[in-house]
Amino acid sequence: MGYCYSGGLLCCDICDDTGGVRKHRCPFGWCPSIAICPKCKREHPEYLTKAYHREHGNCEENSLRFKRQKEKELQLLNEGKLLRRSALQHKTKTGWRIKVIFRGLFREGKEQITRAFWMAPRTYRAIELGAPATVEDYKALGKVTRARNADIYNAEKYAEWATI
Ligand SMILES: [Zn+2]
Ligand SMILES: [Zn+2]
Repeated sequence: MGYCYSGGLLCCDICDDTGGVRKHRCPFGWCPSIAICPKCKREHPEYLTKAYHREHGNCEENSLRFKRQKEKELQLLNEGKLLRRSALQHKTKTGWRIKVIFRGLFREGKEQITRAFWMAPRTYRAIELGAPATVEDYKALGKVTRARNADIYNAEKYAEWATI
């Protein structure tokens, strides 16, 4: 989200006026900071409350979920698991296939382990985006074939063309 400036001065997100406008952080550190002038801050103190952010941006729940996901990711990486990092859909003679790239922990002085696997779109979508997903998770959900090449754009023998 961008901020509005007038004559080099930050505008208030509520009334558009400039002068003494300050950015205020979300109490849960989730949504973008809101720019508010002293007058609106006085008249609308509710914009800076936890209750407002809970209700309007679902900020508390989102930030907690994000934190839990990051903790889970780190735990899995420390266990030596590889996590889903990117994917590209390739059109093949028999339908669509997804090439999914998984990466391990980044260790100083060592190369980060990268592996690529092919799977059906149905299998790929079985785990929601944003959630940590390991190769093992996907193997439990459907057929997963190790790709020969870890380059996401390399369709190998399967694909005719690719789309993101
Ligand atoms: Zn204002
Ligand atoms: Zn918020």
